[in-house]
Amino acid sequence: MVIFMKSQGFEHLIMERINLNFHKILPMAALVSFLSAVAVYFSDIPKLFAYLDFAISILMFLFYMLKNLLPPKLKIITTMMIPIVLGIFTFMDGGFSSGTLTLFLISNAIAVTIFGRREIIVVGLITIASLLFLWRWSLLHEFQSNPDMTAIKWIVHILLVFLFVFIFYISVNSIKVYLVEKIEELEESVKLTHKLAYYDNLTDLPNYYYFMDYLSNLGTETGKNGLILILSLKNINMINAVYGNDEGNYLLSDIGNHLKAILRIDEKAARVSGNEFVLWIQEKQGMEEVYIRKNEIISLLFHEKRTQQKHLLEYYAATAEATEKSGSYLDCYRRAQIALTYAKYVKKESMVHYDQDFDERIKRFTALKELLKKDVADKENFMVYYQPQVSTKTGLIEGVEALARWQTSIYGMISPGEFIPIIDNLHLHESFGLYILELAVQDYSKLELAYGNGIKLSVNISPSFLMCDDFEQQIVSILVQNNFPEEMLTLEITEDMIIEGVDMVNHKLEPLKKRGIKISLDDFGTGFSSLNYLAKLQVDELKLDKALIDQLMQNEKSRILIKTIIGLAKQYDLKLVAEGVEEEQQYEKLKEMECHLIQGYYCGRPKPLNDVQYQD
Ligand code: C2E
Ligand code: MG
Ligand code: MG
Repeated sequence: MVIFMKSQGFEHLIMERINLNFHKILPMAALVSFLSAVAVYFSDIPKLFAYLDFAISILMFLFYMLKNLLPPKLKIITTMMIPIVLGIFTFMDGGFSSGTLTLFLISNAIAVTIFGRREIIVVGLITIASLLFLWRWSLLHEFQSNPDMTAIKWIVHILLVFLFVFIFYISVNSIKVYLVEKIEELEESVKLTHKLAYYDNLTDLPNYYYFMDYLSNLGTETGKNGLILILSLKNINMINAVYGNDEGNYLLSDIGNHLKAILRIDEKAARVSGNEFVLWIQEKQGMEEVYIRKNEIISLLFHEKRTQQKHLLEYYAATAEATEKSGSYLDCYRRAQIALTYAKYVKKESMVHYDQDFDERIKRFTALKELLKKDVADKENFMVYYQPQVSTKTGLIEGVEALARWQTSIYGMISPGEFIPIIDNLHLHESFGLYILELAVQDYSKLELAYGNGIKLSVNISPSFLMCDDFEQQIVSILVQNNFPEEMLTLEITEDMIIEGVDMVNHKLEPLKKRGIKISLDDFGTGFSSLNYLAKLQVDELKLDKALIDQLMQNEKSRILIKTIIGLAKQYDLKLVAEGVEEEQQYEKLKEMECHLIQGYYCGRPKPLNDVQYQD
C-alpha cells in the first residue's frame, strides 16, 4: 500500500516509457498477427482463431495509425485484454493445459504493477465478465474441455498458476519499487541542484541567477512598469569583524526572512551577493505609488525596530525605473547597479536614483577624479583650515583640528566629505594623507603664535592610509623632519578600520603611541558604534559625533545615551570631545556632563590660518 501511494506521482513516467516502446512494437505485432491469421486459416485449427488473429492485426494497425490520438492507457489496456481473450478461447478449446489462466493472470499482474487502483478494477472486472460470458458460451457450443483433466489436476494446476503469478507479481513489483525509489532520489537531487543553483543558502531567497532569469522573462510580458531597488548593507563587514560571522549571518537571514514576509505577490526579492539584496517592485496604479512602496519597504526593513534586530543596519539604496522607454529590464538593473556604485564611491548619499540628472552627476564625478589625480600629484590647490577645541573647565582653546580644503577652478571649494572618498578609491590616500599632515605640521609654529604655546593638533587619518605598510615610519619621518613636538599630535581615526581587526589596528598604532602621539576615535555614536571594541582598542580620546550632539537637547533618552557613553569613556580613562556643538545650551549641558572638550560652530568655525586672530 505504501508503495502504491508513493508511486502514484511517477505513474505517468512509467506510462510514458511503456507508451514509447509500445509504438515501436505495434507495427511488428500487427504483421505477426496477420501472418499468424493466415497460417491458422490454412491449418486444422478452428477458424475462429484465424479471425481472432486477423482482428488483432487490424487493431494493432489501427493503434499504430492513431498512436498520437489515442490515450496511452486505452491502447495498453486493450492490448492486455488480447491474451486474456485469446487464452479463454484456447481454454475452451483445449482446457487448462492451454495456459488460459496463466495468460489472464499475467495480464492482471501487469495491470496491478503498472496501473493505478481504478484501472486494476477495470481490467479485473473485464476479465471476470469475459470469463463468465465465455464459460456460459462454451457450454452451449462445440468447444470441449480437455478430457485428461481430472478435478485434482485442475486444482493443482490452478494453485501452480497462482504461485507462478504471485512470484511474477513480486518480481515485477520489486523492480517497480526500485525504479520508483531511484526516480524519487533523482527528483530530490534535481530539486536540490535547482535550489543550489537558483537559491541563496543562507536566506532561502532567490539568488542572482534566478533574478536575472526572472527579469529576462518579465521582458517577454509587455506593459510591466516598475522599479528595481538594490539594497547594499554597509556595516555587515564591521559586524562580522567585531561580533563574528555568525552574527553577520544571523542579521542577513533576518533581513531575508523579513523581506519574504513583507513582499507582495507581484514583487520579487533576491540576495544577489554577500551584502546585497535586489527587489522588483511592480507598478499597479502609477509610479508614484511604487516610490511610496519603496520607502515603505526600506522603512520596514531598516527603521522599524524588530525584536530580532540587535544592531542598527546601515544601507545604500539604489533605484532605477523600468518603463516603456527605459529599455530592457536587464538594462534597468544595470542602471541601478551604476547608481549603487556611485553611492558607494561618493559615500555622501545612502539613497541614489538613476534619473535624467544622473549623467550630470557622473560627469562632475569624473571631472573631479581627474582633477584630484593632478592636484594630489602636484600638491596643489589644497589647504588646511583649523577648528578650535575648547576646554569646558577653563574655557580656553586647548587644541585645533586640521581640516583639509580643496579649491577647484570649475566647481569652487569642494568639501572633504565629497573628495576624501574619491581619494581613497583612487588609492591616493597615502600621498594625500602625508601631504595634509605635512601642511599642518609646517603650520604649527604659526598655530602656536595664534593659539598659544603647547596647542594640540589633531589630524584626520583615513582607514586606508592607516593600513599602508610603512604608515608609522612615514608619519614619524614627517614629524622628525619638521621638528614637531610629537606629544602635541593627535591622530583621528574612524571606526571603519575595525574591519581590519582590533589587534591589527592596535599593532599599527602602538609604535606611534610609544612616541607620545595620541589616538582619537572620531565620529563616535553614529552608525556602528559598538561599545564592544571600545574596551580593546588602544585609543586615548573619543569624539562624540554631531548627530549625537544634535539629539542632546531633544529628549531624555538621547541624554541618557550620551551620559552612558561619557560614563564609559571615564571608566576607560578616555578624553571626551563633543563635535558639532552649535548652541550655548548644548555647551552648558556638556559641561555639566563633564565632557572635556567642545568643538563646533559655537566655539569657532574651521578657518584658514590667515583668518585666525593672533593672540598676544
Ligand atoms: P570630522 O573629522 O568629523 O570633522 C568635523 C566636521 O564637522 C568638519 O567638516 C567640520 O567643519 C564640521 N563641523 C564642525 N563643527 C560643526 C558645527 O558646529 N556644525 C556643523 N554643521 N558642522 C561642524 P569638514 O571640514 O567638512 O570635514 C568633513 C570630514 O572630512 C571630516 O569629519 C573628516 O572625516 C574628513 N576630513 C577632513 N579633512 C580631512 C583630512 O585631512 N584627512 C582625512 N582623511 N579626512 C579629512
Ligand atoms: Mg575629525
Ligand atoms: Mg567627526
